[in-house]
Amino acid sequence: MKITELSLKQLADGLGKGEFSATELARQYLDRISASQLNGFIDVQPDLTLEQAREADRRLAAGERGALLGIPVAHKDIFVTRGWRSTAGSRMLADYVSPFDASVVERLAAAGAVCLGKTNCDEFAMGSSNENSHFGAARNPWDLAAIPGGSSGGSAVAVAADLAPIATGTDTGGSVRQPAAMCGITGIKPTYGRVSRFGMIAYASSLDQGGAFGRSAHDCATLLSAMVGFDPRDSTSLQRGPEDFAEALEQPLSGLRIGVPAEFFGDGLAPDVRAAIGTAMAQLEREGAQLVEISLPRTSLAIPAYYVIAPAEASSNLSRFDGVRYGFRAEQYGDLVEMYEKTRAQGFGEEVKRRIMVGTYVLSHGYYDAYYLQAQKLRRLIAQDFRAAFEKVDLIAGPVSPTVAWNIGEHSDDPVRDYLADIYTLPASLAGLPGMSLPVGFGQGGRPVGLQLIGNYFAEARLLSVAHSFQQTTDWHLRRPADQ
Ligand code: GLN
Repeated sequence: MKITELSLKQLADGLGKGEFSATELARQYLDRISASQLNGFIDVQPDLTLEQAREADRRLAAGERGALLGIPVAHKDIFVTRGWRSTAGSRMLADYVSPFDASVVERLAAAGAVCLGKTNCDEFAMGSSNENSHFGAARNPWDLAAIPGGSSGGSAVAVAADLAPIATGTDTGGSVRQPAAMCGITGIKPTYGRVSRFGMIAYASSLDQGGAFGRSAHDCATLLSAMVGFDPRDSTSLQRGPEDFAEALEQPLSGLRIGVPAEFFGDGLAPDVRAAIGTAMAQLEREGAQLVEISLPRTSLAIPAYYVIAPAEASSNLSRFDGVRYGFRAEQYGDLVEMYEKTRAQGFGEEVKRRIMVGTYVLSHGYYDAYYLQAQKLRRLIAQDFRAAFEKVDLIAGPVSPTVAWNIGEHSDDPVRDYLADIYTLPASLAGLPGMSLPVGFGQGGRPVGLQLIGNYFAEARLLSVAHSFQQTTDWHLRRPADQ
């Protein structure tokens, strides 16, 4: 087995025993990144990576050990980093270098993780396919014609293609779970407020949440443990201490009640996805879980609610890109107003502009009550549906996406088709609940299918333990695409 195919635990053991150095390990990944055709990365700076690797080697030589010490990690280019550019996939920030590190970046660096670079993503994390990136679409390693999912597409690509053993992502409405599903890897978004948003370039602040990608639930648990924790620099950070999710993985499934929401298995679900999900649920049942039919009656309303609230917040968050404070400024303009107009017209892509317009509209006088306030009420009702469900079951399972990855360009004339495909991930986002995706097979065209698990608040450890148990008896998470 190549060292780029080892699990985090095996990597940490190998580093600890001196079988290979952090520098050798980082080099192997950097070589794979530079040979890759997948457009998974926006910025790679081998000198900086190797400097961090040498520092990890010094710590290892001094006898220090740690689950992430010397382990390479790729960061979604939404987390700001000193050294590497921080673009958010936008022309607006194409040359921007942050003077500080995001909290997540800082925490992982303190744990000794070695940054491999910044991964491709939809512009300001708006999208479900990674095609909205100023730096071009990333490609799905299982099929170069397919999208990798989005918005954290590059991070999912990096892990799926062994360009990084683990990667960070962000999930506002599904952007960790959906690309994990489409690339055949494991990904988790924790409870809103557990991972600091400080230094995460904002899309929709009441929904944005950092998350983890890995090949297995075990690897995700290790990464997520280093990411969570209270941060006074994020006003919505939860006052909750650290937690070691990797410690809590071995829990039996017997007696576990898994809710199966009828609304997640309606007409819109493609037969190939339905079949793979059905087989996975039967496996969970064999391992001792009890499947319970439940209802999340407002599921379909999550789409209109989310696509009002998220653009509303985005229109406010993105007002800071005015050509003055940082980032891109149009070259030619007359007065100040024209400078703003041209900067924003040239700096933002189509989808971002569409959302700024929708957001500004739903917040405007006369429409606020009709759209924004209604959407907030729906959001509350959706959260109440989950609360009622969690009185009957311990967690909820269903598909992540109604179909496997579609082709690059397939939805380009109709953005609403992308929005509709978010139906199964948006409800948990609106409620602030933790959710994850784990690979459970392949559908049409040999493209991966992910199973979604949704937990009650702070049930990350339980979710990961169920995924871990599943991965002890199946090998979907170990399947690898051919090198591209
Ligand atoms: N696809 C959703 C959107 O476009 C979710 C994106 C995300 O989670 N960042 O808004």
